Amino acid sequence: MTPGPSQLFPTVKDHIKNGLKEDIYSISHRGSGFQKIYENTCCLLKKLLNIPSDYQIFFLSSATEAMERIIENCVEEKSFHFVNGAFSDRFFKTAQELGKNPQKYESEEGRGFEFNKTKIPQGAELLCFTHNETSTGVVLHEYPHPDPLPQRERERGNAGEGEKPLVALDIVSSVPYVEVDYSFFDCVFFSVQKGFGLPAGLGVLIVSPKAMKKAARLQEKGISTGSYHSFSSVLKYGEKFQTPETPNVMGIYLLGKVLEDMLTIGIQEIRQQTEEKAKMMYDFFDTSSKYVPFVKEHKFRSQTVLTIEVKAGSRPLIERLKKKGIIVGSGYGAFKDSQIRIANFPAITRRDVKRLLGEI
Ligand SMILES: *Cc1c(COP(=O)(O)O)cnc(C)c1O
Repeated sequence: MTPGPSQLFPTVKDHIKNGLKEDIYSISHRGSGFQKIYENTCCLLKKLLNIPSDYQIFFLSSATEAMERIIENCVEEKSFHFVNGAFSDRFFKTAQELGKNPQKYESEEGRGFEFNKTKIPQGAELLCFTHNETSTGVVLHEYPHPDPLPQRERERGNAGEGEKPLVALDIVSSVPYVEVDYSFFDCVFFSVQKGFGLPAGLGVLIVSPKAMKKAARLQEKGISTGSYHSFSSVLKYGEKFQTPETPNVMGIYLLGKVLEDMLTIGIQEIRQQTEEKAKMMYDFFDTSSKYVPFVKEHKFRSQTVLTIEVKAGSRPLIERLKKKGIIVGSGYGAFKDSQIRIANFPAITRRDVKRLLGEI
């Protein structure tokens, strides 16, 4: 029950075996067998996650890679980052390392943001949010709606359609539970080893037409948007249901299989189960004398990654649970020895939660 890489979705073992039987893992990534797998996985992703038909789906190697590709393809100079933990900070640092000029609005760990107090700097081309900050267990529900850019910036062609900044959203540890408003977000990304319960090594990036246009405009201006995984290069191959490089064929195949399973269960059912399990856990920790949920404000409490302070220190508890065959995560960074983190992904059953709480 650690947040990542997390427990495999229960059907994954069988899917891996079936893939071997069907000889999927050595097919050519330029052949029709792979094209069918690619197309199928994209189609199922659009269905389960309710992605608009004019958005592109790109297969990358990780969520961290997606951050880099988004900055390269959507930002000439300025991105603006909402930082409240290690993963949102990684996004910010990526922009710095790529030589951009990012700015950030930082919130205390364990807290959300006060958007009415946030001033989004003029000329910000991209706003970056982490829906579920896995390091602290904070979830976001609202986002600031920025004003259109001033004329001067528009003339420089800095903002998408010449109006508002593009908006990026990291949904790594809340997918598939999260409901994304695609009328607001342009670049949405995740990797598969958390909510989908798959082996690590595949990232998925969902891109709006507006973001595609921005990437094209940067290229026209002679600005580098990267090499084989630039938006234009991935799109060119994607139109043929292929990838520029030899991809993680096994990952794309297995993602399709787990998507089928989740569609059978139904997204509403998955969401409802997630909320039920989260409630069982928060109710338990809220009324216990030895533990306190780290996130105090209920509206910022994640349904998918729970961070819990252990008054006596988390290490002995983690060891004790390990002996019973239950793996929970330690706290992140400075909270390593004072907190535990519990993943509440679809692979975790009500029985798992009951057993965990029983042992605790
Ligand atoms: C795990 C995680 C990432 C990084 O994912 P990788 O697949 O390791 O690149 C990014 N953002 C969040 C919120 C995460 O939980």
